[in-house]
Amino acid sequence: MGSSYDVLFFSAHPDDVEFGMGGTYLKIARKYKAIHVILTRGEAGTHGTPEKRVKEAGEAGKYAGAGVEFLDFKDNHIEDNVENAKKLAAAIRKYKPKIIFSPYHSITGSHTDGISHPDHVALGRLVLKAARFAKFKNAEIDGEHHLAQRIFYYMVPRHVMPSLVVDVSDVAEDLEGLWKCHKTQMALRDGTIINMLWEYRRITGKIHGLECAEHFLVDSPLKLDYEDFLRV
Ligand SMILES: [Zn+2]
Repeated sequence: MGSSYDVLFFSAHPDDVEFGMGGTYLKIARKYKAIHVILTRGEAGTHGTPEKRVKEAGEAGKYAGAGVEFLDFKDNHIEDNVENAKKLAAAIRKYKPKIIFSPYHSITGSHTDGISHPDHVALGRLVLKAARFAKFKNAEIDGEHHLAQRIFYYMVPRHVMPSLVVDVSDVAEDLEGLWKCHKTQMALRDGTIINMLWEYRRITGKIHGLECAEHFLVDSPLKLDYEDFLRV
């Protein structure tokens, strides 16, 4: 039986969390007990071997301060079904997180848009099921039942209004170091991947009057007190 973690981050491929929400990942993993659960070794990707990608993900985890575990899913073959949701529910029970981060479950986009990879969408749907399955005492799932308080989704589609913006300006100087842990992926987008990752955070920041920011979605309203805003 594992000990309790504050936050569980799910990725379909070894770099999803770092590229999709790296600033927030750094902020959280430095302060809280965090685990990054990665479903595949990215073996279908154009760059790198599964062995190299596992090593790179481990280095990124170390850099951020999070544990890393790989599950045995096959790249490009993540399917949204009950059996797979039970595997993720077992991971949730093992780490007992208070909150979970996952790629969004309804990403629409062209095949040239990296975030709309079918594995990302399937993972989002699986996490939604798994978080529910994990709480049922009599479900046929390994581990003690557990209810995570909230799922936050990263990889927000461009046409969807985000629920939450996280200011990551304070960790901006450490972001490139995190991304560069994934050495084999630096050739992505004709070698412009780092520029693209910066662009997303700078444009997102600009919308909110911040230097660098990342967007997230939730499925139900966040509980906030109006006094939270009066204190600013
Ligand atoms: Zn991915």
